[in-house]
Amino acid sequence: MKDSYRHKGLRKQLVEQLREKGIADERVLQAMAQLPRHFFLDKAFEEWAYQDKPFPIGKEQTISQPYTVAYQTSLLEVSKRDKILEIGTGSGYQAAILALLGGRVYTVERQELLYKKAKALLEQLAIGNIRCYLRDGYKGLPEFAPFDKIIVTAGAEEVPKPLLEQLRIGGSMVIPVGGKAQRMKRITKVDADQYEYEDFANFRFVPFLKGINKE
Ligand code: SAH
Repeated sequence: MKDSYRHKGLRKQLVEQLREKGIADERVLQAMAQLPRHFFLDKAFEEWAYQDKPFPIGKEQTISQPYTVAYQTSLLEVSKRDKILEIGTGSGYQAAILALLGGRVYTVERQELLYKKAKALLEQLAIGNIRCYLRDGYKGLPEFAPFDKIIVTAGAEEVPKPLLEQLRIGGSMVIPVGGKAQRMKRITKVDADQYEYEDFANFRFVPFLKGINKE
């Protein structure tokens, strides 16, 4: 896998576009300037890797648009050593960004093929601090709870209760909620069963599905 000067240049331009679109978190922008997005796409899409667009990654799933990754990651306000649960590993790109920000990442995927591909790629890139699981993300990862942060990267009709339970008090979850289109929400656990909801912009994600799908 090769990261050229041309790729670096395209990445810088992408980061400038994100800034113009309102992304202001410098740490997030810096992580996105650092991580080669073309590593996470099939060869056929490499040419377009630095466009601010989602792309197919197989199994009818997509790598999120860079703006969406930047937006969700900014809302998550990652601190170094934060224990983070991601639902929807997909390509592994979002997980890698969280790890570059110093998070200890636990990422869950329901499609076996995508899980295997992302796990192998993340190991090869040796970013560290990322663990991949083939699971139904609806249930989270109770054995590693509580988490400081939870990020859901598929559109959920409702907020999964197990995920709320797996948040640490004071922790927060960023999740797109809705059917065909979603509203980005940030939910902060203020007490054992007390949550504060904040409402943000509209997005369109692939659907949050139940169960796991073997190859
Ligand atoms: N974060 C990814 C985005 C992938 S798209 C990236 O950076 O590339 C969303 C992913 O969520 C898809 O791969 C889909 O298979 C997965 N997904 C949907 N429902 C899920 C569930 N219940 N549990 C785990 N993963 C799920």
